[in-house]
Amino acid sequence: MRRLYWFRRDLRLHDNPGLLEAARADELLLVYVWPKHRPWCNSQGLGAQRERFLGESLQALTDALAPLGQKLLVVQGSPELVLPDLVRDFAIDAVHTSECPGSYEQRAIDFLSSRMPVSINTGNTLFMPQQINDTAMPLPDTFTPFRKRVEAELTPQPPGPDPARLPPPPAASFHRLPSVARPHVALPLRGGSGAGQRRLRQFLDSHGGVRRYKETRNDLDPLQGSSTLSPWLADGSLSVREVAAALRDHESQWGANESTYWLYFELLWREYFHWRALRDGPALFRYLGQRGTRRGAVSRCTFEPRNFARWCAGDTNFPLVNALMHQLVATGWMSNRGRQIAASCLVHDLGIDWRYGATFFEKHLIDYDVASNYGNWQYIAGVGADPRGGRAFNIEKQTAQYDPQGVFCAKWDGHRPHQPDYITDAADWPITPEE
Ligand SMILES: Cc1cc2nc3c(=O)[nH]c(=O)nc-3n(C[C@H](O)[C@H](O)[C@H](O)COP(=O)(O)OP(=O)(O)OC[C@H]3O[C@@H](n4cnc5c(N)ncnc54)[C@H](O)[C@@H]3O)c2cc1C
Repeated sequence: MRRLYWFRRDLRLHDNPGLLEAARADELLLVYVWPKHRPWCNSQGLGAQRERFLGESLQALTDALAPLGQKLLVVQGSPELVLPDLVRDFAIDAVHTSECPGSYEQRAIDFLSSRMPVSINTGNTLFMPQQINDTAMPLPDTFTPFRKRVEAELTPQPPGPDPARLPPPPAASFHRLPSVARPHVALPLRGGSGAGQRRLRQFLDSHGGVRRYKETRNDLDPLQGSSTLSPWLADGSLSVREVAAALRDHESQWGANESTYWLYFELLWREYFHWRALRDGPALFRYLGQRGTRRGAVSRCTFEPRNFARWCAGDTNFPLVNALMHQLVATGWMSNRGRQIAASCLVHDLGIDWRYGATFFEKHLIDYDVASNYGNWQYIAGVGADPRGGRAFNIEKQTAQYDPQGVFCAKWDGHRPHQPDYITDAADWPITPEE
């Protein structure tokens, strides 16, 4: 029997139940399909840092496969086109992959399942679908009731074993991935499981940041405040179960405190957005979300291309937002606090459709995750999981609280010359305020 394993957001050998299942074959073709950008909201291609980090994760996976006599075939194109070709050319009997929310992602699975046997495994969440079904279904529309139920009744699945062996690949030509960019000095993170596990150990050691996490997590810089584990969690180089297990080990050795609990709390947010995205399907990408209405009073929304371009370029009238956007494009990362401020600015100050902002984040974030990204954007815009009417941040207050000395703004060149406030007429021609 010859099988194909399609790696998606699980770029690891350890704790990968789908790969273990696929490995019960005589020959195994391991494939990764290089992601295409969602074809909407004027966005094309991946940002340089996202591309680099992904390339490094794939290289690390390739290196880990070599001692097992296996290789990774990286192909370009849409999965609906390239996977059936591979199945035919290599006479594959069955395709295996891991669960991934998102409507394009689901469309690819539906298409493939109508032509060949496809087996989908769930190893990218803390809990199994059955546990969620028994405990948290119907899924609450907001996070807190979900959290309370799972905290009371569920413990995360333990991580599974590494494959002791893998069947050999069918003969194929494999190519090395080109190295495309270097990490920015401000965030020297490398892709791959080894780098992710080193960061996990560093964050969870006896003096590690986890013991102060609750107080430091809003820091705007990476590696100092929050765990900065998201890039590896998002592409699956780290398994969330392994993070939860390491956290429990840390607590049993050094004691639990509010901060260690809070890291688990954040992992439950990730979990919630995953199950919610699966539930919502295409509504994750709709302007009014799954409910079809917008909470709160704000309903203004236009697409004003100059304002959007200025937000993307970090050229707004808000120095902190500019600094954050420069950080994002240069490093591929932004803190949670920073994302909330930048997203709130786009939605509530500039009045732009939140999906344009989400798409720009998708292009650049090295930790891009469809469920967390679109779910958090919906939350800020008031069309998602927020029990209040979306989150509109007062940027001046946020600046005073999180960058009181202006160090972050100076580091990321947030101060720009004040730009004219363009107004457009009914035909979208710009008119300056003097006219
Ligand atoms: C507009 C917006 C877009 C976002 N887009 C993404 C995205 O594409 N990918 C992504 O992983 N996170 C996203 N987040 C959530 C959050 O900002 C990042 O997970 C976090 O900043 C990553 O840094 P960290 O690993 O140091 O997080 P920590 O604070 O150390 O948290 C630990 C882990 O918990 C999870 N987590 C923490 N906060 C959240 C949250 N609000 N929602 C979901 N999971 C969370 C992440 O896996 C994170 O790595 C977004 C948030 C906002 C407001």
